[in-house]
Amino acid sequence: MKAARWFGNKDVRVVDMETPEIKNDEVLIDVQGCGICGSDLHGFQTGALMSVDEEHPVSHRKAPLTMGHEYSGIINSVGKDVTNVKPGDRVVVEPLLYCGTCNPCKEGYYNTCDSVGFQGLNGDGAFADQTKFKANMIHKIPSTMSFEDGALVEPITVAYHSLRKGKFEKGMSAIVSGAGTIGLSTIKCLKAMGAGEIYVIQRKSVRQEYAKAEGATVIDPNECDAVAEISKLTGGKMADVAFETTGSQQCYDLLVRSIKNQGTVVITSIWEHNIEVNLNDLVVTEKNVVGTICYNGNDFEEVIKLIGDGVLDTTGLITKKIALEDIVEQGFGTLTGPDKKKHVKVLVIPETSSIKDEIGK
Ligand SMILES: [Zn+2]
Ligand SMILES: [Zn+2]
Repeated sequence: MKAARWFGNKDVRVVDMETPEIKNDEVLIDVQGCGICGSDLHGFQTGALMSVDEEHPVSHRKAPLTMGHEYSGIINSVGKDVTNVKPGDRVVVEPLLYCGTCNPCKEGYYNTCDSVGFQGLNGDGAFADQTKFKANMIHKIPSTMSFEDGALVEPITVAYHSLRKGKFEKGMSAIVSGAGTIGLSTIKCLKAMGAGEIYVIQRKSVRQEYAKAEGATVIDPNECDAVAEISKLTGGKMADVAFETTGSQQCYDLLVRSIKNQGTVVITSIWEHNIEVNLNDLVVTEKNVVGTICYNGNDFEEVIKLIGDGVLDTTGLITKKIALEDIVEQGFGTLTGPDKKKHVKVLVIPETSSIKDEIGK
């Protein structure tokens, strides 16, 4: 089979390799489509978050590794202890590696496992004709759900979990900073869950148009005093909850000042640098700042239902479909090149996929 494997910084090659052998509790999946994630781009460029020199404690694997973790597929075969899925089932995968024995795992928070890792970064992933994973992390999707939508379940579930962390409730007003994949997915989850007004902080780029297409009110922090604007638009009430997806000091400051007292800022972004935080902004207002990472519990099942029932419309998230062979130039190249802001999600489609005729559409 073919697989896109990371050998070193900016050195990903599509190579021939053996089909993975499954253990008793694993399944082999024929990959139908796999999205390129921001963490894949970081990994591609710098090896960030990847098991480069040391084996990951859960997967016992290190580079070279097949990348890719946002995918849908069809079960090819199952290990002898597997009972939850069978060959032919259409599935998506919750791609977390966790130990199952540390305290966070025992308490059900396997997304914060002491040894947490990702398929595709710390073990072989799904930019390949086939991949394997533990059966207990496989979720079936309905026959009516396209494999494109299936491949979007993972990034949308990241956003969905962040709403839970923000204790979002129907009718709340919300601010989202950034209208990239996670920002737009957050907006889509907010809409699906019945948000009131949604304000999006986004500087001038085509991403403003993507947010407007979702019905959000776009505020450009370079063109106006964004806090004053939100105060005006909310009649002085400020927003109930906010989601930070950009990893910038400017957006963090702006969100803390734009939510109501008792409100919550959820931090979804991963930070490359430390920022300055004035804790008195939280103390005297009883505002909350909480982190969110990945997903756990029923998040995947709930998102599959929201998309499957048509409550959450994925339109606009996939902006390009490419062949696995072209992943380096048309995938990583496009997403780090001059047109990167135009793109939301690029879907990689292996030669053996049932949707390979969709390439270029
Ligand atoms: Zn991802
Ligand atoms: Zn653990």
